Amino acid sequence: MVKTRKIPQRSCIGCGLKTDKINLIRVVRKPNGVLVIDIKGKEPGRGAYICHDADCLKEAIRKKAIERALGEKLSDDIIVELTNQISSN
Ligand SMILES: [Zn+2]
Repeated sequence: MVKTRKIPQRSCIGCGLKTDKINLIRVVRKPNGVLVIDIKGKEPGRGAYICHDADCLKEAIRKKAIERALGEKLSDDIIVELTNQISSN
């Protein structure tokens, strides 16, 4: 018998679309309040997900969706990192 692997679904904070977790970039608020981009999906803490799409990032920034989801202000460094991450895929 073949076991079917269920891929967890998450919503993008930019466009709100639900998709497989592996297609999304995860931003994590670490226990010390620092926001990091979780590339390996192993960081503990509260996470927000966003598509590999510059428009979703722009929308998320405009709506302050990441701030609202994680309760921390998005630093310029994180925005640059996210932009790089998105454009590299
Ligand atoms: Zn999106």
